[in-house]
Amino acid sequence: MKIRVLGAHGSDLLVRGRAGSTICRSVGFLVNDELVIDAGTLASALTLEEQQCVKHILLSHLHLDHIKDIPPLVDNLFGLVDHQVVVSSVPSVIEGLQTHIFNDIVFPNFFDLQGRGNAILRSQSLEATKEARLSNGITVTPVLVNHTVETVGFVIRDDSAAWIYSGDTHHTEEIWEVAARTPNLKGVFIEVSFPDAMMDIAIQSKHLTPTLLVQEYRKIGKPDLPLYVYHMKPTVREAIHQEIGELDIENVTVLKEGQEIEL
Ligand SMILES: [Zn+2]
Ligand SMILES: [Zn+2]
Repeated sequence: MKIRVLGAHGSDLLVRGRAGSTICRSVGFLVNDELVIDAGTLASALTLEEQQCVKHILLSHLHLDHIKDIPPLVDNLFGLVDHQVVVSSVPSVIEGLQTHIFNDIVFPNFFDLQGRGNAILRSQSLEATKEARLSNGITVTPVLVNHTVETVGFVIRDDSAAWIYSGDTHHTEEIWEVAARTPNLKGVFIEVSFPDAMMDIAIQSKHLTPTLLVQEYRKIGKPDLPLYVYHMKPTVREAIHQEIGELDIENVTVLKEGQEIEL
């Protein structure tokens, strides 16, 4: 599987440095050019041609940094594509998206609720811990994690590889038990939002710091498993980078926008 990082952060921020400007973008990953995992960044990081290839959006939860680029994607694709984009998650996320965003008040309802012919979006409800086959030959298993709203992480697999995506989470158990028994596991993506000095905020907002990350990663029991870190809050990213660099983990990568990973 080819994974492209569209956004690796927990918010958006333009950063000016000596080498010029870079941008931190909200969470979004593009798999095999057509499956998106979390949609905090989509339309602002993909060309129109690339956006036309998007067939599937998989959402971990409803927080804005994970959904906010769906409306611009829909605007861009309107009248341009023949296919519907399937939005998949557990029922509370699908219902929340329709109630709070695509409600004909904040944004037009582009879901095919009444069989409207021009609906670009179609929903697919997933059941926690039950494997579902997506249209592109990839299967996903949602697993509930521990955040301030109902949130799932995912096991994502094809014929040759599997990887785990944590979603936003604090201490949790089930997804690491699933990871420990997943065959062909090639990597785990785990969020880190704050440095250890902001532990109180991490606990209140149910996120992880580098110290908490290590505790979660070790629950899998595979010390060689490649670890990919994302969801850093942009204003504290340098402190997080430094703390992760000091961790006693063999194979850790802090993800950046534009990076590509082959699993
Ligand atoms: Zn988030
Ligand atoms: Zn969140």
